[in-house]
Order: sequence, then C-alpha cells, then structure tokens
Amino acid sequence: MPLILERKKVLDIYNEAGQKRWVIPTFNSENLTTTEAILSAALEYSIRINKPDLPVTIGITNQYSHRSQSVYYTHTRKWDIGLKLFLADLAVLTGKGSPFEKLNVMIHLDHTQWDSDRPLLEWDMNLFSMIMYDASALSFEDNIRLTAAFIEKHGHEIVVEGACDEIVDATGDTRSDLTTPEQAIKYLNETKADFIVANLGTEHRASAADLKYHGDMARAISKLTGTKLVLHGTSSVGNDQVKNLLMMALPR
Ligand SMILES: [Zn+2]
Repeated sequence: MPLILERKKVLDIYNEAGQKRWVIPTFNSENLTTTEAILSAALEYSIRINKPDLPVTIGITNQYSHRSQSVYYTHTRKWDIGLKLFLADLAVLTGKGSPFEKLNVMIHLDHTQWDSDRPLLEWDMNLFSMIMYDASALSFEDNIRLTAAFIEKHGHEIVVEGACDEIVDATGDTRSDLTTPEQAIKYLNETKADFIVANLGTEHRASAADLKYHGDMARAISKLTGTKLVLHGTSSVGNDQVKNLLMMALPR
C-alpha cells in the first residue's frame, strides 16, 4: 500500500486499533538504515501474524532541541533537505515493487516546535499522516491557545497530537509534573486535538534516574478521554509492560 497520508484513512486505522485493543507503534528514524530496519521488522511481524497490511508509523523530529533528526538525516545538516529525503525514501520503500508495499505505513512529524519549526509548519501538511504540535515549553494556557489555533487552521488536513503538559526547561534536568486527568480533559476539549501526549513518567520527560511508567495515571486519564492517549518514551518502559500497554491504559 502506498503511504497512508489522508486524514480520514489515518483516523480509521487508529480507530480500528482502538477497537481491537492494539497499540500502533511509532518508531523515529534519522537515516535510511533505520527506516529500512523499522520496515523490515514490521514486515517480519506482519508475516508472523498473517496480517500483510500491518499498520506502522515512522516518525522524525525537526528543530527539537533534544535531537533534530531531520538535520542529522544528511551530511548537509539542513533540516529541509533531510526531511525531503526522508519522505522520498519512504515513498520508494512503500511503493510498487518494494517488499514493504503491503504494509500500512504512516508518517509522523514528532515534537514539532511551535516557534523554531514555523518554516516547516508552512509546508503542505498533506505530505504527512500526523503531527505532534509541541508548545509545551509555554504555559499550559498558552499551549492550549496555540494548539487550538493550529488545529483550527490545519486540523482538516492532518491528524494532530498535542503535548498536554508544561515543561519549565526542556534542555536541562528540570521536568514537568505528571499530567492529571483534569488537565487532559481540559486540554482535549479546548484544543480539539485528535490525540494527546500526557507526561506519564517515561523517558519523554523524566531523566534516567526516576523513570517510571504510571499506568494508574494512564487509566485515570483514559477513563475521561477514551483511547486518545499517545505514550512517548516507550523505549524506557519494560518489555512486560509494553506487551500490555493498551490494556494497562484502559480503565479496569
Ligand atoms: Zn516525546
């Protein structure tokens, strides 16, 4: 299948996953080798479970201070060149005649910064399946206001994931508090985001010393929001927990 970019098709795949109690993984890439490794693993798994159109999402960050993956994509160290090549690689790898042509592959722009990524936000959003609009370095109220404005403008073109917490200093050890269910539902209602990323104690925000996935908080949030939660920093969650991620995040 060619890339799944159309908003409705992307939402259909995520809705189906929610109904079937699946979690769709997003793996970020910053070079062709990683992109191919992700697709190879997805293909192998699709054969094992006999689901040729297995959904998988491949992400990339842009001007994100922790890691600017589009910049690292080429030796030009130019984000726009990197991003165009990332898209071109994916188009070829999911196109006709590729071993990966039957997979349902989606493209995610990760941690897109409301300020430094302004030039990227001017691009055609139909080139991507979804975007994380990240204004979490601002106050919670400003974050909501800017995310709502972005969704108002582009929400019909692309699936939008919002960052539902407030960080004091994204570059240092200072981290945000865990997202509360009240914050999550307020954020969701006021921004109209399709999905929300909550701070649940994973590597997304916490530093290595105090990583802990707060499944209890995920359940409390899902109780109010339904299956809208996106978990970041999942590589810091133990294998046993990852296996049951969605069941753990659902209200008991
Ligand atoms: Zn994150």
